[in-house]
Amino acid sequence: MIFAANFKTNHTRRSTELYIEALNKKLGAKKAEDKVYIFPPSTALDDYEGEFTIGTQNAYPAHNGAYTGEIGVEQLDEFGIKTILIGHSERREYMAETQEKVAKKFTFFQEQEFKIIYCIGEPLKIREKGFEAVMQYLIAQFEGIDLEYENMIVAYEPIWAIGTGRSATVEEISTTHRALKKVINNKPLLYGGSAKPANIKEITSIAGVDGVLVGSASLDAESFSQMILS
Ligand code: PEP
Repeated sequence: MIFAANFKTNHTRRSTELYIEALNKKLGAKKAEDKVYIFPPSTALDDYEGEFTIGTQNAYPAHNGAYTGEIGVEQLDEFGIKTILIGHSERREYMAETQEKVAKKFTFFQEQEFKIIYCIGEPLKIREKGFEAVMQYLIAQFEGIDLEYENMIVAYEPIWAIGTGRSATVEEISTTHRALKKVINNKPLLYGGSAKPANIKEITSIAGVDGVLVGSASLDAESFSQMILS
């Protein structure tokens, strides 16, 4: 299973260090085949040691240059970071990242041979229209994305389940993942949206779920390690 922690705009450099110290004490007990990713805010990026991979929540598709407020490949190289989240619904919505921008970013980081966790997800009004509408919406989020890219993990994150405490149901996850797996040629597929210690077993037992992308419940090292070790 894959367990990915997205801190979003939470944690400082110091609290990330303490988090990693606490997590490292627990990760010795994780199954060898389980893989852990941590996406701290960019001010806390570093070359931490441990049984996990550090990734960036975002970066500008350039090596360096005049892109005020952004970081590029040069800043990530300093810490050996080769993993990035692309297409998260919060960036699509609050940072106005259109599918075109998301696809350009994907292509750039694919060329740099980054591991890409590519996020897709539908809003509630689409889910309410039914399964066909959901799939149509999700498939449109693959426009301009090379689904043959080997170093890609997809994260299905229904927007209405993110940060709401209300996860999608087993049936919703199961049917959506089954359909998505065909579209993405069986690439690893994570579920994201209010995953937490109380529901992790149920979610990871669903066929077609290869792991989870976790926001709120990953912010505390104890809670996240409980999920990994469950
Ligand atoms: C996310 O935003 O990637 C996420 C899954 O958040 P949460 O776990 O808080 O729903």
